[in-house]
Amino acid sequence: MKQLVVVSGKGGTGKTSLTAALAGLGPKKVLADCDVDAADLHLVLHPEVLEKQDFYSGELPVRDPDRCTSCGLCLEHCRFGAISEDFRILPEHCEGCAVCAFVCPTGAVEMRRRHCGFQYRSKTRFGTMIHAELGTGQENSGKLVTSVRNAAMEQAQAEGADLVLVDGSPGVGCPVIASLTNTDAAVFVAEPTVSAIHDLKRVHALAKYFKIPGLAIINKTGINPGLEEEIRAFCAAEDIPVAGALPYDMAVTKAQILGQTIVEYDPNGLGRLVQDIWDTIAANL
Ligand code: SF4
Ligand code: SF4
Repeated sequence: MKQLVVVSGKGGTGKTSLTAALAGLGPKKVLADCDVDAADLHLVLHPEVLEKQDFYSGELPVRDPDRCTSCGLCLEHCRFGAISEDFRILPEHCEGCAVCAFVCPTGAVEMRRRHCGFQYRSKTRFGTMIHAELGTGQENSGKLVTSVRNAAMEQAQAEGADLVLVDGSPGVGCPVIASLTNTDAAVFVAEPTVSAIHDLKRVHALAKYFKIPGLAIINKTGINPGLEEEIRAFCAAEDIPVAGALPYDMAVTKAQILGQTIVEYDPNGLGRLVQDIWDTIAANL
């Protein structure tokens, strides 16, 4: 079984639309939406939730007001401004260091598992999807990404699937590292804009560091031929095969509005190009 991750660095390059389009092609697969901070693969794949799990990571203090004598030691020692003047815990600022529990003389503060969001196993028209939702203001999205990927691997093994297709996290931080590590190949989705090329280079450097081979897809061609050439030159210099290019086309937006992939909406236009892209990716996997 192979793991293929689609990444872009910069958001808005069409990464998720392409992941959804690829989801309908190729072998039996399990999908993993690792864009846990702003998941949107579900907007096209309309998952039917089969299972919902709580996701916990780290700890959060809980104060028992009945045992609190208002001595102020917790407020005095908290270095993160996470305790109010009336000694309430402010979760949005708390780093879970447990100093408040340590210094509290009455045992009024107890550290408990921190609820950070939910993880789902769902049915889609292209196979099982594992996805997640990080709670508002919650951190630890790297751990949630790892949890989603692990669950997707287990699901793929249980189903005898040949592929786990991962919609990777944006950026180059902890979540995208968690999306990339131990995958068999990365697909870099780039658009011909200055910021997208900058981020393509950063995410490619990250994949190279982890020795993950990559292919590129140039999306929205035609909007800036000069920058498109720059992407091709970078790929040539770094030995990154270009799996294909997709022109800027309003069909992508129309497909999104209808909740369809571009292969479903425009099978003989963009859909044919995506099929060619998939064939190139499969040949390189
Ligand atoms: S756990 Fe640490 S950061 Fe959170 S409230 Fe207590 S002392 Fe402050
Ligand atoms: S250290 Fe304990 S007793 Fe003192 S204010 Fe904080 S919670 Fe209350």
